Amino acid sequence: MIRVCPSCQKKNRVAARHAGSRTRCGACKADLPPPAEPIDADPDLFEEVVRDAEVPVLVDFWAAWCAPCRRAAPEVHAAAEATAGRALVLKVDTERYPDIAGAYGVQAIPTFVVLRRGRTVRRESGLVPARQLVAWLEEAAA
Ligand SMILES: [Zn+2]
Repeated sequence: MIRVCPSCQKKNRVAARHAGSRTRCGACKADLPPPAEPIDADPDLFEEVVRDAEVPVLVDFWAAWCAPCRRAAPEVHAAAEATAGRALVLKVDTERYPDIAGAYGVQAIPTFVVLRRGRTVRRESGLVPARQLVAWLEEAAA
């Protein structure tokens, strides 16, 4: 996946395997911190992260028209911030990528799926507070 260096703005390609941890910018060698925000996933990135990530992955299945999804967004963001370096948080736009949602049996949104090494360990629909999302990720990492 692509991470923008906070110091020189250069785009770095980071393997999903290492995406949960701190790496270095290829250009200026500055620390590239792990993502502290949700990542908008397309099918390629989704597949790579689910297959390779060594940390638990939270997926937020959402859509722009969905009001509960908009209310959930700050919770998802807070969870990503709280688990930076220990988990990855992906957002999947179910309107753009219905195939991913279909593959995970998503019938209502928002739906949250926690994955660990490619396996679904939890799935819940509806608004979930950040501390609950964080607890799921910590559980999945244990
Ligand atoms: Zn840099």
